[in-house]
Amino acid sequence: MSAVAYVNGTILGEREAMVSVFDHGFVFGEGVYEVLRTYGRQPFLFEPHVRRLRESAARIALDVPFTDEALLDRVRATLAAAPDLEEAYIRIVLTRGVGEFSYDPHSCASPTLVIIVKALGVTAPSAYEQGVEIRLVGVTRNHPQSLNPRIKSNNLLNNALAMQEAIRHGAFEALMKNYRGEICECSQSNFFIVKDGVATTPPIEAGLLAGITRAFVFDLGLETDIPVREGLLREDDVWQADEAFITSTTREIVPVVRVSGRVIGPGSPGPITRRLMEVYRACAARLVSAGAAAH
Ligand code: PMP
Repeated sequence: MSAVAYVNGTILGEREAMVSVFDHGFVFGEGVYEVLRTYGRQPFLFEPHVRRLRESAARIALDVPFTDEALLDRVRATLAAAPDLEEAYIRIVLTRGVGEFSYDPHSCASPTLVIIVKALGVTAPSAYEQGVEIRLVGVTRNHPQSLNPRIKSNNLLNNALAMQEAIRHGAFEALMKNYRGEICECSQSNFFIVKDGVATTPPIEAGLLAGITRAFVFDLGLETDIPVREGLLREDDVWQADEAFITSTTREIVPVVRVSGRVIGPGSPGPITRRLMEVYRACAARLVSAGAAAH
């Protein structure tokens, strides 16, 4: 891995980039984060990502002591320190910072800000062309009144344990149910089914992360006349779906053709999914060439 990182004001190489072991982000997992990617080396959809970062931080009573513009400047400076990267993965991490070991949010004087820039991992072309298998796992998504999945927090054990189960079965992603037994979201992506030409994804109220790509798919729906809706999904809706796909910043839209060994639709990426994938890429390219990628 070749990466650079901004750590509290200094841009460092991957070997030098360190944070204190006394940081509450390390000892308590008290922190929030965002993952962005670039298109044409421009951070994509920076504005909605920073908005979500602020919302996550507010939900854990964490100050965000900089403006959006100042953060974008730091992201750009970190990107500039990695000139060899064609496209970048950008992880912005904001933790409570260093302080006494206490859960009192006032025990830390200032948050720690880290911006990691590294090469964007490539998803195998076969995933987009042939689709992937995901696994409906036994790990339940966090109860919103326990640790709200809307908080994009550094507490990622729920996601990691779900994904471990998927990995044991050779699956690309882990699909989780919520505490009510409804279909919720995946460990690192949101989930959609397509039935009778309509794309449906579980509502935020089901207890999931409001994905930026998920929201972008709603915009693509307007652009393409494909109806995209929020709706409660149960296991049977998955088995009876014509198509399914997952969405995330780093992977865009990936067709799902099998869930836990059961074939979805004809077992190959369906026409609605393929159309959305195509329009996604066209839209991203258009925003970049219009200089509007950050919005
Ligand atoms: N759900 C979870 C649990 C995630 O970790 C992610 C990845 N950030 C997503 C959904 C997709 O969100 P986005 O489209 O903003 O990357």
